[in-house]
Formats: sequence, C-alpha cells, structure tokens
Amino acid sequence: MSASTLDLCTELVKSILSSHRRHVPPAEQLLASTPSPNAATTDAGEPMAARCLARLPTPSVLRSLFLSMFFTSPMLFRPGLAVFKTIANSKSPFLSPDRNPLLRACVKPLVYDQFCAGTNVAEIKKTSAGIKRLGFSGVVLCYGKEVQLDANNKPIGYDGKGSSMEAEVDEWRDGNLRTLAMMDAGDWLGMKLTGAGLHITKALLDGGPAPAKWVEAMDALCQQARTQNARIWIDAEQQVLQKGIDRWAFDVMRRYNTSTRALVYNTVQAYLKTARDKVQHQLATASREGWRSGIKLVRGAYISNDRRDLIHDTKEGTDKSYNSIVEDLLHGKGFPVLEKNPNFEHDLLLAGHNTQTIRGAARMASSLRSKGQLKVVPEFGQLQGMADDIGCELIQSGEDALRADTNAFIRKSTNV
Ligand SMILES: Cc1cc2nc3c(=O)[nH]c(=O)nc-3n(C[C@H](O)[C@H](O)[C@H](O)COP(=O)(O)OP(=O)(O)OC[C@H]3O[C@@H](n4cnc5c(N)ncnc54)[C@H](O)[C@@H]3O)c2cc1C
Repeated sequence: MSASTLDLCTELVKSILSSHRRHVPPAEQLLASTPSPNAATTDAGEPMAARCLARLPTPSVLRSLFLSMFFTSPMLFRPGLAVFKTIANSKSPFLSPDRNPLLRACVKPLVYDQFCAGTNVAEIKKTSAGIKRLGFSGVVLCYGKEVQLDANNKPIGYDGKGSSMEAEVDEWRDGNLRTLAMMDAGDWLGMKLTGAGLHITKALLDGGPAPAKWVEAMDALCQQARTQNARIWIDAEQQVLQKGIDRWAFDVMRRYNTSTRALVYNTVQAYLKTARDKVQHQLATASREGWRSGIKLVRGAYISNDRRDLIHDTKEGTDKSYNSIVEDLLHGKGFPVLEKNPNFEHDLLLAGHNTQTIRGAARMASSLRSKGQLKVVPEFGQLQGMADDIGCELIQSGEDALRADTNAFIRKSTNV
C-alpha cells in the first residue's frame, strides 16, 4: 500500500469517527522494549511473525485482515471509500453512526474498535488493560481535538462563531484532565496545542509568548501528569503554527523536565528539511540551560496541506532524514552537542509504523547496548490498529532479550 493511500485511509477513518473523537480519546499504543538483535526469527528458529500475531486476540487479527484487504484492493477500496465519504459528510440521521444503531453496529466493531479506545470510561479502561496484557508498557491517550488551517490561515470547518479564550482553554484543560484520570502510571497523554481553541491557535500563529490562561492550564496538566507518574507529548502540527508550538513547548520543558526523565516531549517531524537542525537546537538548548530534553520523532502528517517546499522532495528523502537522525542519536554522533559531550543524557520516542525503520532502530539499539555504546534508549509508539504486528514483534524481541540476559545471568551466577 502506498504511503499516500495509508494517509488517506487514516484521515478518512478519523473523519468518520470525528463525532466520537471530540469526546473520547483514541488510544495510541506505546511500548518501551529492550530490543533483540534478531527481530525476524526467534531463538528457536520459529518465524517471529507467527509468535507475534499469536499475541493478538483473534477478532483483532481478523479485523486487521479484513481492513488490509479493503485498503489494498482497488475493487473494494474505491466503492468503500465513496460509502465512507458519504457517511462522513452526511447530515442524515440514518447515516450517522451516533444516531443509527444499525449502522453503528456495523461501523463500531469493524472500524472504530480497530483504531479507537472506546466511547466511555469503562470501554477505554478495558481497551488500555487489553493493550497492556499484550505486553505494551503503556498506553497513550490523546484528547483528539485540533484546529487545522487552510492556505489563507483560516480555520477549516469553523463558522466564525466562537467562545472566549477562557472558555476554550478551560474546555481543553478539563478534557485533558478527564483523559489523565483514565490513565495509570507509565501511560502518556498526547496533546495538540491547537485543541485549546481558536484564540490559542491565533496566538500560536502570531508566534508570541503563551497567554497566562494557557500557561495556567498547562501547569495543571503537567502537575497532574507528574503526580500520576505519566508523561506528556506535544504533537507537531502545521508549519505556520510550529514556531509558536516549539516556543511554548520549550518553555514547558524548561519548567517541568527537571529530573532524570523527561516529563514533556516535543515532536520533531523528520520530513522537514530542517529536522536535523531542530533536533540539534533542542538538544543544545537543553544542554545549555540544564533541563532534560524529550524528543518524539515522527515523519510528519501534514504533507497534503502544508508548505511543500519545507518538506523533503521525496519519500526517500524523508526516510533518509528519519533513519539518519535515529542512527546518530543512538550512536551519540552527528550532532555537535552530543559529540562535544559524550555523557549528555536525553530521552527519545520513535513514533511511526515503518517496519524497516523500527526493526533497524531496535536492532541497532540492541547491538550498541550489548557493546555498552548505546547513547539513548529508544522507546517506540504506534497508533492502535495501524501496525500491531510490528508492535508485537518489538515486545517479543524485548522478552527474548530479557530471557537471554536472565539466562546469561543464571549461567554466570552458577558458573556454568
Ligand atoms: C504515535 C504517533 C504519533 C504521531 N505524532 C505526530 C505528530 O505529532 N505530528 C505529525 O506531523 N505526525 C505525527 N504522526 C504521524 C507520522 O508523522 C506519520 O505521518 C505516520 O506515522 C506515517 O509515517 P511512518 O513513519 O509510519 O512511515 P511511512 O508510512 O513509511 O511514511 C509515510 C510518511 O512519509 C512521508 N512522505 C510520504 N510521501 C512523501 C513524499 N513524496 N515526500 C516526502 N515525504 C513523504 C510523510 O511524512 C508520510 O506521512 C504520529 C504517528 C504516530 C504513530
């Protein structure tokens, strides 16, 4: 499946489910693993894929099979897309999954449950527990509200009537606090700053400091996350907003990333031609000012509605950018701040579904770790339902490596 088809499908699913997403956070799976050097087969020579898929519940495997058949077959995809578009754009109660129980009975188990955590607290807690039973170390819940801008920087889908900044920020803060209340220690809260409303989006566009009202709300969220031993990531959005997002995110990291593990992560989009400079800038600023840097590295999701000249010209260019940043961070080379200070410590989350990248990063980390040369332990995050096989493969590798470590320890301690 081409990347653009995948993106389109994701967007489509998002828009069909937007009525749910406004209220209920979809789960994003996050796992921290200790990767094994051998990701394709197990120690017993058993194909890795079989053991990984065996972890997943049968309905989930069947649903993934159905959806990948749907997304990859032009015969099914084109008419299916037309049906989905009609449902997503229709105002008819018959075509609303919220109001038509029959339609809901089809859409929810087949599409919604594949990508989203649930429509109420009980469902979300059940999904999170199921994800952790698979072996994932944590779940990311995102308060799924954002503002996207058109080419004239006008918010898409708003009719001009809005409420006050105070009311919008309160709603965003309370939504995020409710999301935090559904999380356990080790989980993550994912947030988009434009979710705090039109006034905040305008302030981000202006590139000035964050309004006091937003700072107060963000303080409440960081303090709550810290109390729960959870972490927060701030999503990267469209480039017109990103200067503001980076500025505010740096201010939050400055104040809250004061211990040996980052509480707040900022996102860098590797598809940007400036991605490498952005990583260097964050690491250098953290090093100079004495706070802990947390970076979430993604390829970038706004290629269809962002300034194209800022983005690598080809998919290969983006892949090279992502993979080379990962390689250099794991080795602690290629960035002046890391080369000058080999003991510099920071945190890294690799978000994405590209199998080659994930396997490559896991193998590289494992190999460097065995030589005592790993400079940052990567954690991995995927969107629920998008790459469950690779997520399970990472868990399997981590467990195999742990078993190998334990066996080595037992042999050492019994002197065998
Ligand atoms: C947990 C998680 C969190 C995320 N958070 C964010 C976020 O905060 N901000 C954000 O922007 N995205 C975010 N994303 C989305 C991410 O940026 C990618 O769009 C998505 O994951 C697909 O990329 P991939 O790395 O999985 O791999 P692939 O499917 O191999 O790569 C697809 C990506 O390659 C790039 N690409 C495709 N065609 C071209 C081309 N012709 N030229 C240049 N580049 C091209 C695009 O970035 C596209 O999304 C997140 C994804 C995950 C899994």
